[in-house]
Amino acid sequence: MDGVEGNRIGERVDAAAWGAFSSDFRGRLIEIGDPEYEQARRIWNGMIDKHPALIAECRGTADVAAAVNLAREQHLEVAVRSGGHNVAGTSVCDGGIVIDLSAMRGVWVDPQHRRVRAQGGATLGDVDREAQAFGLATPLGAVSVTGIAGLTLNGGLGHLRRQFGLSCDNLTAMEIVTADGRIRTASPEENSDLFWALQGGGGNFGVVTAFEYRLHEVGPELFGLFVWHAADADASPMKRFREWAATAPREASVLAFYGFIPAIEEFPEEQWGQPCYALLGSYNGAPEEAERVFGPLREFARPVADFSGVHRYTELQTLLEADYPKGLHYYWKAVYLDDLTDPVLEFIARRGAASPSKLTTLDVWQLGGALSEVPREATAFWHRDKPYMLTFEANWEDPAESEANLTWVRESVAELRSMEGASGGYGNFPGLGEDPAQALYGDNHERLVAVKDRYDPDNLFHLNQNIMPAGGKRSIA
Ligand SMILES: Cc1cc2nc3c(=O)[nH]c(=O)nc-3n(C[C@H](O)[C@H](O)[C@H](O)COP(=O)(O)OP(=O)(O)OC[C@H]3O[C@@H](n4cnc5c(N)ncnc54)[C@H](O)[C@@H]3O)c2cc1C
Repeated sequence: MDGVEGNRIGERVDAAAWGAFSSDFRGRLIEIGDPEYEQARRIWNGMIDKHPALIAECRGTADVAAAVNLAREQHLEVAVRSGGHNVAGTSVCDGGIVIDLSAMRGVWVDPQHRRVRAQGGATLGDVDREAQAFGLATPLGAVSVTGIAGLTLNGGLGHLRRQFGLSCDNLTAMEIVTADGRIRTASPEENSDLFWALQGGGGNFGVVTAFEYRLHEVGPELFGLFVWHAADADASPMKRFREWAATAPREASVLAFYGFIPAIEEFPEEQWGQPCYALLGSYNGAPEEAERVFGPLREFARPVADFSGVHRYTELQTLLEADYPKGLHYYWKAVYLDDLTDPVLEFIARRGAASPSKLTTLDVWQLGGALSEVPREATAFWHRDKPYMLTFEANWEDPAESEANLTWVRESVAELRSMEGASGGYGNFPGLGEDPAQALYGDNHERLVAVKDRYDPDNLFHLNQNIMPAGGKRSIA
């Protein structure tokens, strides 16, 4: 508890305001010294070690509005937590209040109108499970325990991205508590400027208490690709992937990564720890067609292992869960690519081999399809015209290795950005939030500043990829 004495909330705020707030609040209020505090302040990324004065675990929108009002009136630092999985750890803060939506996970499906409404703290798994009960889904990310809120507000890339677009492209409406404590609807009809900004502009504009999405027919069974090839000197699995991607149907999305063969019995022991290229993806259509479509990625060489096959969609969404346990150390950053050139492939192999951790991967996300057909100005999400995104996912166990891993990612990103056709960044893989907002929002940044000025001119919500209001209040923590 070093360095946090004197941070109990009652000592930080006006007694009458605290009394009124705490007697009305319906959820749990967790303070320093409470038995639940240690567990409640921890988030997924073990690198993040912060001590908020209060965790306000909300039961509903009224609790969220009360917490926003308390924070604004009492000048408290504010962090907003939904799934708690953002790598930058912005869902927790030192000394202030965490507005925690993780207990708000209700999901309602309207199959007739093909809509799903979910509370802000829902996980991907919560939404997928309910929607799949009707044979439907909305495009979310690829790991079911992560939150829909952070994912959607920063874009949202998953298995269905090339067929149905980003998560934020499928939004039809949201309920949001803005910095003034008002509960508003954001939709194409109501507060349309806010709706536009929330489609990719991150957590800058308030606390979203409910998301409503369009649904599509998906599965319930579909073919998942997961094939592992040895890393040869010629990077041939990546070259085969590049060739395949040029004509791939949009029902298929693939992520190709450089990594190391895990030391587990599913892989031949003599291969453990060896560098490899793996191809992970899915095809939303007939399994026989999927076998044909993915054939070139599986059959060109004898793979080290091939776990491809037909899965329930909800199973596919849990396939990677065990690879990212809570409490490990994580530092992830992303750069978009105009092309997967030979110099980029050489770079991936070289930087991959130099990684300080064998849990680390370098992931090439195939983009294009539906997400690239939305005009860049139509939503806040800017980088739609890029066919690939390369992410550096540094994962390690020992805190003593943090410096080496951070340095490896930062040097890799700097080198890649100096190469032709590499640019930008993605709000869901933000490192520790070092990149300026312009790197994410491109020419949409100015319009986002105008929306920020309107709904959060004092920058109450600034623990995010911050869009500074024109008045420039508060600095990025
Ligand atoms: C294991 C793993 C797998 C992942 N896979 C993918 C993937 O396949 N595709 C992809 O695109 N991304 C992926 N991500 C990235 C993930 O989408 C982001 O980390 C995302 O931010 C997580 O959302 P969250 O609700 O858990 O975030 P939190 O950590 O709870 O919040 C992050 C930030 O979002 C904002 N925020 C959160 N809730 C709200 C709210 N209700 N209202 C307003 N602002 C809010 C705040 O600024 C907050 O600081 C993955 C992450 C992990 C850890």
